[in-house]
Amino acid sequence: MEDIQSIKSWDVIRDVPFAIAGPCSAETEEQLYTTCKGIKEHDITMLRAGIWKPRTRPGSFEGVGEVGLQWMEKVKTELNMPAAVEVANAKHVELALKYNMDVLWIGARSTVNPFTVQEIADALQGVNIPIIIKNPINPDLALWKGAIERIYMAGIRQIAALHRGFSSFEKTKYRNVPMWQIAIALKSDMPNLPLLCDPSHIGGTRDLILPISQKAIDLNYDGLMIETHCDPDNAWSDAKQQVTPERLGEILDSIKIRKTTSDNQEFNSILETMRSQIDHVDREILENMAARKVLVDKLGEYKKENNVTVFQSDRWLQVFKTRADWGTQLNLDTEFVGKLFKLIHDESIRLQSKVMNDKKEKISK
Ligand code: PEP
Ligand code: MN
Repeated sequence: MEDIQSIKSWDVIRDVPFAIAGPCSAETEEQLYTTCKGIKEHDITMLRAGIWKPRTRPGSFEGVGEVGLQWMEKVKTELNMPAAVEVANAKHVELALKYNMDVLWIGARSTVNPFTVQEIADALQGVNIPIIIKNPINPDLALWKGAIERIYMAGIRQIAALHRGFSSFEKTKYRNVPMWQIAIALKSDMPNLPLLCDPSHIGGTRDLILPISQKAIDLNYDGLMIETHCDPDNAWSDAKQQVTPERLGEILDSIKIRKTTSDNQEFNSILETMRSQIDHVDREILENMAARKVLVDKLGEYKKENNVTVFQSDRWLQVFKTRADWGTQLNLDTEFVGKLFKLIHDESIRLQSKVMNDKKEKISK
């Protein structure tokens, strides 16, 4: 396969970051028109609307279907703005192209299924249209990349990834937990791929849209997709997370855009000093880890000689508790300290198990 990293930037994107906005679902011609007209007043690059809605449970509104594309074509022509819709099978692709949609997106419930993605990819053979690929609902980077590769192999070169968070059984403040590290890992593997954020589906409520958008922009995302509705409280789908066009404008105006680099000499030299201090501290962290490893190996050897198990739960509880307390005294985030020592302890168990089971290995000193 050709190098996926040769994905080029989209022709339709001139300003970065850019915004895509529109209703979760096209409901009526009037709702779509009023919403999009309101959106046009703000600095929005592209319209969106859901035409077929993949709902988690039956009985919810499942989209208006083909007629919604007719409305969207009229609206986008009248407002002179490009439009994006979601496609989930070959028929959707055919219809979206028939009504001259400018961009198609693959939703989270489709990205998760390679058969579906391949069906869409096959329908796109020979077509030149930008495709946005949302992350799969489960936190699986390979599946997300696999979907991008399938679309790329169909000949599509204008591709963007859209981060909309991941489902979880546990209740969190998010509708879909962001797990930012997965999107960042994707961007590191495919640096030329534009990365967008969907704060509406991550947050699930209006008040979270601004902080999530700001975080995405701080992480250097290329754009946002924000669900917008002329009457959000009465929306037929995702009512809690949609905002009015006015609120959309306020959100976009409040986002602080930061640059990735600066031409200011003084700033760059101070930054370099600060970074070298951080490099130094990181080096010390690793030297301490190496010192810990020597102790852990000795401990494993000693337990082995005395026929004692690698893991003692009371010791682990004590480690966990004391480190959390020490962390608090040092003004460190408790959750972070917990995660860090879980990782350190897992490594300690792995090392000791290796010592226990490796007959040949001799630990020096
Ligand atoms: C949507 O954008 O309307 C949508 C259905 O989102 P997701 O695929 O992220 O659930
Ligand atoms: Mn939605």
